[in-house]
Amino acid sequence: MKHLPTELASARQDIESVDKQLIQLLKQRLDVVKSVAQYKKGQPGAELYDPDRESQVANLWQAEATELGLSAYHAGRILREVLNYSRRTQEPEINGLEEKTACTVGYQGVAASYSDLAITKLFENRSSQRVESIGLPRFSEVFDALESGRVDYALVPVDNTLVGSIGEVNQLLATRDVAVVDEEIWEVEHCLAVVPGATTADLRVIRSHPVALQQCLRLLSDLKPVEAEQYFDTAGAAESVSYAADPRIGCLCSPEAAVRSGLEVLRTNVADHERNHTRFLLLARAPEDASPKLPVKTTIQFTVNDHCGSLASSLAAFSRHDVNLTRLESRPQPEAPWKYLFLADLEGHQEAEPVRAALAELIEQSQNVRVLGSYPSRAVERNQVPSPLTTSIATVPSRVETPPASPVENAATPAFEISGVPIGGNQFTLILGPCAVESAAQMKDAAEMVKAHGAHLMRGGAFKPRSSPHSFQGLGFEGLSLLAQAGADFELPIVTEVLQPEDVEAIAEKADVLQVGARNMQNFSLLKRLGKTRRPILLKRGMSATLKELLQAAEYILDGGNQRVILCERGIRTFETSTRSTLDVSAIPVLKSKTHLPVLVDPSHAAGVRDLVVPLALAAAAAGADGLMVECHPRPEEALCDKDQALRNQELDQLLQGLRPILHSQGRSL
Ligand code: PEP
Ligand code: MN
Repeated sequence: MKHLPTELASARQDIESVDKQLIQLLKQRLDVVKSVAQYKKGQPGAELYDPDRESQVANLWQAEATELGLSAYHAGRILREVLNYSRRTQEPEINGLEEKTACTVGYQGVAASYSDLAITKLFENRSSQRVESIGLPRFSEVFDALESGRVDYALVPVDNTLVGSIGEVNQLLATRDVAVVDEEIWEVEHCLAVVPGATTADLRVIRSHPVALQQCLRLLSDLKPVEAEQYFDTAGAAESVSYAADPRIGCLCSPEAAVRSGLEVLRTNVADHERNHTRFLLLARAPEDASPKLPVKTTIQFTVNDHCGSLASSLAAFSRHDVNLTRLESRPQPEAPWKYLFLADLEGHQEAEPVRAALAELIEQSQNVRVLGSYPSRAVERNQVPSPLTTSIATVPSRVETPPASPVENAATPAFEISGVPIGGNQFTLILGPCAVESAAQMKDAAEMVKAHGAHLMRGGAFKPRSSPHSFQGLGFEGLSLLAQAGADFELPIVTEVLQPEDVEAIAEKADVLQVGARNMQNFSLLKRLGKTRRPILLKRGMSATLKELLQAAEYILDGGNQRVILCERGIRTFETSTRSTLDVSAIPVLKSKTHLPVLVDPSHAAGVRDLVVPLALAAAAAGADGLMVECHPRPEEALCDKDQALRNQELDQLLQGLRPILHSQGRSL
């Protein structure tokens, strides 16, 4: 190891010793958790999964984290993993401790592919089985191996949150004689890997599984002129790149597969969306008993008569008995063209009420109902941790299910995430930064100030919509680069304004959030274009716009397919002249009652003068805003834009001091 300065070496020793304690505490926690399972095993009716208890624990974590000045959000994410691990540790206790038995599991791909990694995760606790995984080139061969007895189990991917259902696997599932005995969820993290020493400039070909290529389109277009080349498996692509030893060829694979093939990781997390989960099913030749003490799912298959309303009446059996369907998939039947077969996953055990009753009804109405199995549910369900720490984005109502004029059903759920920062729900989001990007030195000092005050994102205008054509118009793309650089240096996602549709693509390349200014709220061609971008939009209320018009403007973006819209109240024109605009505090509760979209407040442009910004900001927080966007400047006297309203360090301190008790009293975290 390199020689390190003493302070660094000693700090690292401290970290290692804290880590050791963390692991020991985790072990202690799991031991206690096991004894809880032992207790519950002897209690008839005691369920292993107790959502109320989990939310109690989550609240405790949140309070403790907030008290210590930690991010409740990140602490919550850690808790989720701990709870997940705990539940799995309890399972063998509930199912009875057996000697570790050996078994073989078939999967499509080669070692370190996502299926292989998911097998390791699933069998870690599953009935204490020792597992040997066997990779095969094709899905059909995996099913063959299972049916012929060559392997005891098969793990196959059925669904992905980005690309949807894996058609080939679902077709095999519907037509082969197999039982579903378990499921696993894998959080996919693709990286870009190359032979050691190669750089992105060398790349000409990127090789991967077609699904992985489809999930990383942004990277592929960034790296033009590289060509995407399909390969049967992500880990197989890594092996082939290593074998070719050619710096022009890279691949998309898991970090584990890159390491295994001796490749160098150039970029991590390169998928187009932050959340990329694949759901796998574990198949066997015969069904297995799932403990009724665990949350259980059941997979069924059925066909319906080809007449009007028959599918609807089959499905009505589930709603009549209050059984939740988590997936419905239709598959063609090659032997009967234009007749479809349905695969459905539902919550609950096939032999327990109300699923039993719903299935009995379905059998009366539908043809060929087959139950593929009941098995432990591993998915993090919508309200599984119904606390302020919930991080699921799966609850964002899509435009189709719930128009923006509907309030969110669970206010504790963040509306969505921006580069890892949750917006909405119980998280209060702080955006700080100068009105305009002026120079590299100004941005460096501003970013330092923004970071020091704990902001989640940094703002900065590169394209300024000025009322007068003679005022400073911004540095344009040069300013955007300076902002992006400062954001990267200080690990702050960036927000910047876009003025015209032609610039959307280029600005979206560098900015994490695109802002629509008050003067552009009804620039409909801009809004339509923003509906097509993958970046979240911060939509400011026009100075003379009603709230209805603001929501209609948001609908332009939502209708284009972009669901990540943040509304921003920034003051409106009234007859009052002592402030630059009048902050419409009532807009906050009104918008929140009408829409699931997060509502931020910009007190700076409403106030126009520094001294009014903090009181207005606190009023906004008290009225329930999901966050604030506030202008600040390292040297306001030199600011080229909005110098009178820019906060200095001392006002930012006051702002934080004022916010803490307000948010605390609302059970929200900063
Ligand atoms: C800004 O936020 O930089 C800005 C120009 O604000 P508004 O569009 O609200 O005037
Ligand atoms: Mn400004």
